[in-house]
Parts: sequence; C-alpha cells; structure tokens
Amino acid sequence: MELFQLSRANDVRDAVIAGAASQTAQQGAQVRFLAGGTTLLDLMKLDVEKPARVIDISHLPLDRVETTDEGGVKIGALVRNTDLAMHPLIHEPYAVLSQALLAGASVQLRNMATTGGNLLQRTRCVYFRDTAMPCNKREPGSGCAAMGGFNRMLAILGTSDKCIATNPSDMNVALAALGATIHIQGTKGARSVPIDDFYLLPGDTPERETVLEPGDLVTHVTLPPIPGSRSLYLKLRDRASYEFALASAAVAVNVADGRITRARVALGGVGTKPWHAHEAEAELAGAVPDEASFARAADAALAGAKPQSQNGFKVELSRRCLIHALIQVTQSV
Ligand code: SF4
Repeated sequence: MELFQLSRANDVRDAVIAGAASQTAQQGAQVRFLAGGTTLLDLMKLDVEKPARVIDISHLPLDRVETTDEGGVKIGALVRNTDLAMHPLIHEPYAVLSQALLAGASVQLRNMATTGGNLLQRTRCVYFRDTAMPCNKREPGSGCAAMGGFNRMLAILGTSDKCIATNPSDMNVALAALGATIHIQGTKGARSVPIDDFYLLPGDTPERETVLEPGDLVTHVTLPPIPGSRSLYLKLRDRASYEFALASAAVAVNVADGRITRARVALGGVGTKPWHAHEAEAELAGAVPDEASFARAADAALAGAKPQSQNGFKVELSRRCLIHALIQVTQSV
C-alpha cells in the first residue's frame, strides 16, 4: 500500500471543501472519502486505489433513516447495510431493499458497509483488481483483458468495446427498481440526481462510473412512497452466501382488479450499471399477472443483451430469474 495522508472531517461542508481543495492542490491526485472501508481499503491494499489523501467521514451525522414529507424514506449515507435492512421503515415497506441488502456480502461486511459506500461499490472484474493485467477502468487506454479472458461473471447489458464489467451491488438494483434519488453535496451546493442518471455507462471512459465530481459527497438517498406495492429481490449465484449475483431481479408490483397497475423492475449481475428495465415495466403495465406476460416482459428486458465468450448463459438465467421473481411477488396478491 502506498503512503497517504489521513484526515478526519468534522462536518459535511468540511469534508467537501477538504476533498475538492486536496484534489486541486495536488494536481488531480486522488482523494477518497472513507466510511465503512469495505471496498476502499481492499483496493488500496491491492494498489488499485492509490489516493494521496483519505478523508475519514465516518463520524458525520448521516446515519439516520426517517420518513419524508412525501411519505417516502430518507436514508443517510452512513447508515450501515445491516441497520438499513432491519429498520422498521424499510424491512417490510420496502422489502425488496431489505432482501437485497441481506443477500449481499457477509454479516461482518454488512455491519460495516454503508449506504453511500455501497452505491459506489467497484466492480469485481478480476482484471480490475490485478495490477499486472491491462484494464481500461483502472488504467485508461491499457486495454481490456476480460474481452478475450475470464468474463463468465461480467455484463451482457450496457457494455462497450472498452469495458464489460458488472456493477456488483445488490442494494443498487433494489434502489434502481424503487426509483431512488441520490442527494449530493458539492462545492457549488447541494443537488439531487435520480439513480437512473447517477451511473454512467462505460462507453469510451469506463474509469468514470458516476456523475460525481471531485469533492462531491453523497449525503443521503430518498425513496418515493410505494403504496399498495408488493416487492421482492431474487438473487441467483454460484453458492448460497457471500457471493456476487450471476443474475438478480428486483421487482415491486401493484395489482388491482386482476391487472398490473404499476410495475418496477431492475436487473442485477448482468448490467454495467444497476439495470432499470424500463422495457419490462412497459410490457407489464396493464397486463394480466400471468406467466405469459412475465415472459414478454423478460424478453423485452433482455432484448439488447450482448453476451461475451463465457457468459451467454446469463441471457436465459436472467430471463428466468425475472419471470420467477414476478411469479413469486404476484402469487398472493
Ligand atoms: Fe477492466 Fe472493465 Fe475490462 Fe474488467 S471489463 S478488465 S474492469 S476494462
């Protein structure tokens, strides 16, 4: 691990100013905010992340879950994954989010990992974490070892000829289905970004994963109310715990008079970002909740899939995952 300067922020403003100033003063040197550290410290030990300065934000007052005036929920960026999954405002009302959180990582990691950190979780592409291998995301312009290499776990949606890495988070998939909004404090003030616009597709610049600018700090996430909705997260993986998704589906569905009145759908394990399946939602709106409708929705969601040499199985796996999630969530409606 390379030497770095460590400081502690006393408040949000302090953190943002310190983050932006360090970046400028050190001519673009990397600055990283440290919360739970479950991704950042791993990557620093591997020399994948080499920040010149680390700013500890773990003591900032961003650890509350509360209702919003609109009837939704506000989640502080420092709320731990376990606390969020078990919180009464989340556990049943937003079951899909609770289930996604509890499907991720291990108990020990969930006890440390934060909401903000999980939003910014880096890919598990093996070449990204191996500094001996070419990787456009880690070192722009160096190439992509995964294209002709080990890509069984990687993406089939949203890829480019520069990068095919999957967004590994379960939580982010649930947030995409729920239409979360990400709230950011930057040097020019506060702003809010819908989750669909928060993540960037790799395109020609896979090193840039979100719209965050130097010094930007995610302060909280808000969820809209989902009255009358039943929701569910289904994750398929190589083993039953402590494993990343090969395919997952986050669904929230409203049914009235034998028809789907509103469906929210996102896919995990298959996209370069948490994959909000708008085409599937359009297919389901007004449909009878049966297997034929679900199959049409799944086909629409995967229509743009581009499999790599080892992950063609993900197209059918993801399709079946979504169909099964929709069957389960509508079974007792
Ligand atoms: Fe790097 Fe992306 Fe290629 Fe993996 S898929 S080696 S993260 S450029």
